[in-house]
Amino acid sequence: MQAPAIGGVQAPRGGGKAIKLPQGASLTDFAEKIGANPASLVQIMLHLGEMVTATQSVSEDTLKLLGAELDFDVQVVSPEDEDRELLESFDIEFGEDSGGEEELAVRPPVVTVMGHVDHGKTKLLDAIRNANVVAGEAGGITQHIGAYQVQTEVDGEDRKITFIDTPGHEAFTAMRARGADTTDLVVLVVAADDGVKPQTTEAIDHATAAGVPIVVAVNKIDKEGADPQRVRAQLTEYGLVAEEYGGQTLFVDVSAKQGINLDGLLEAIVLTADAELDLKANPDMDAQGVAIEAHLDRGRGAVATVLVQRGTLRVGDSIVCGVAHGRVRAMLDENYKPVEEAGPSRPVQVLGLTAVPSAGDNFLVVEDDRVARQIADKRTARKRNAELLRARPSGSLEEIMERLKKGERQELLLILKGDVSGSVEALEDSLLKIDVGEEVNLRVIRRGVGAITQDDVNLAVASDGAVIIGFNVRPERNAQEAADREGVDIRFYSIIYQAIEEVEAALKGMLKPEFEEVQLGTAEIRAIFKVPRIGNVAGCMVQSGVIQRGAKARLVRQGTVVADNLTVSSLRREKDDVTEVREGFECGIGIGYQDVKLDDVIECFEMREKPRD
Ligand code: GDP
Repeated sequence: MQAPAIGGVQAPRGGGKAIKLPQGASLTDFAEKIGANPASLVQIMLHLGEMVTATQSVSEDTLKLLGAELDFDVQVVSPEDEDRELLESFDIEFGEDSGGEEELAVRPPVVTVMGHVDHGKTKLLDAIRNANVVAGEAGGITQHIGAYQVQTEVDGEDRKITFIDTPGHEAFTAMRARGADTTDLVVLVVAADDGVKPQTTEAIDHATAAGVPIVVAVNKIDKEGADPQRVRAQLTEYGLVAEEYGGQTLFVDVSAKQGINLDGLLEAIVLTADAELDLKANPDMDAQGVAIEAHLDRGRGAVATVLVQRGTLRVGDSIVCGVAHGRVRAMLDENYKPVEEAGPSRPVQVLGLTAVPSAGDNFLVVEDDRVARQIADKRTARKRNAELLRARPSGSLEEIMERLKKGERQELLLILKGDVSGSVEALEDSLLKIDVGEEVNLRVIRRGVGAITQDDVNLAVASDGAVIIGFNVRPERNAQEAADREGVDIRFYSIIYQAIEEVEAALKGMLKPEFEEVQLGTAEIRAIFKVPRIGNVAGCMVQSGVIQRGAKARLVRQGTVVADNLTVSSLRREKDDVTEVREGFECGIGIGYQDVKLDDVIECFEMREKPRD
């Protein structure tokens, strides 16, 4: 059915039909969905007052506006929904254990350690790991791979526990923000000599928000002044009531430093998990899970630590992890020992990926390499669209031009590349906190791990002058050449605060200079002469300050400004042209304004740039 033409343009009408479009879709994507010609949609948008090209990513509002005009119910799908649909198109369901209840087997709890700074989180993680290594693998060298698993005996049974090796709630919330719920249980560390502190309660809030049970480790009981009972009393206020006081929460007194009662803590974790959680997963399916840490290793390529959440991961499996894909070439555990397979709750380092995934990316095993590549390619394309959307100055073209004209707002676009996911995110966080006021914005349009590539340079060029920041990474050779050729600014840092300082300076540099008016002097008109070719020249007496040739001027009559934006175009003493005349002297002033009268005052001033602090 053809529409009544909109502004003379023909396009199909939707009759209220729903269509789904991804965030960052273009008019071409829209046209494809409704079987229209992209050019006609460009024209319709023009009639609606927005100038966009057919292939440019447009905002959700624009898609909806166009939808409303053509009577389509446009639904812009979130990246998560879109990804689910992508996987469904390959007949894959992510996040669900396949099979029925009988397929499920008990899996170990995954634990994150949180608490106030200096209460001993790191020390406790180290102590638990080391105690276990000595008991188990004599001589094994433990490596920090982002998570580790330990074994403990509870009621005569061997039980396993997985610890996420990055303490604190920052990593925990960052993962949750990305939709990855990795943690089953939180160990809240509270120093017995210090008690409940701000980050203790923050940690409780985060754990509660995630619906995750808490075991309290009362640490540093070896210290003088340690008062474990006080910690129990304090925490009742936050709803954590110790078992011995009739509550549900297990409190365990430990010393991370002296290795006291670590077994007691492990037991409490297992008991709490058994009592409050029903942790089961199907070990007999294609593995799925989440990447918790990743970096680029010089010799081994992309290295990612993944946490298997269901199924069993095996060497040789084809996997997709975020935009990376590949075949599992080898797997290593926290002792750097090769592993052939990893079941639910097992963290392993995976070698063989084509690229470095981000922390929080999901991973899954697929049928074969071809499927893995197709999914990764689709995700890459989508990520790229999203980046281009971010790179686009926000607002309609008119708005942007208007702003540029007024010089109202400026934006610094950044592409961040770093050696490990964690440092890139930390850098981004700090950069986004820089605030130099409303007029200047900072936007990160891409973040990633690994060397600066030609594609990064291309994105910088496409987004009209984005700056690339390399944190502990260098550009690939062709990338450097491309950057030199295209004039893309690449900056290298290895210390976060240096990066922050320079970016802040750059942002300040983008601020439009602010000017203030500085009075130079005033002169009163005592006589008016007509001079051929110049017009009226005022014979004046300088009353204050100095009158300068070329300076700005305004004409004031009886206290009212009658003409502004004038310039002292001629200045004479007697018959001579001069550059300035001081207070108390007579002179002739031409200000290019004819309607001057006796007793008018000429104010002379200049605009000076205000220094910024
Ligand atoms: P985090 O900031 O919570 O990770 O704290 P750390 O693990 O870095 O520990 C902070 C300080 O407390 C370090 O100097 C540790 O050696 C010390 N510490 C940690 N646990 C204990 C403990 O059980 N007893 C004593 N005396 N000191 C401890």
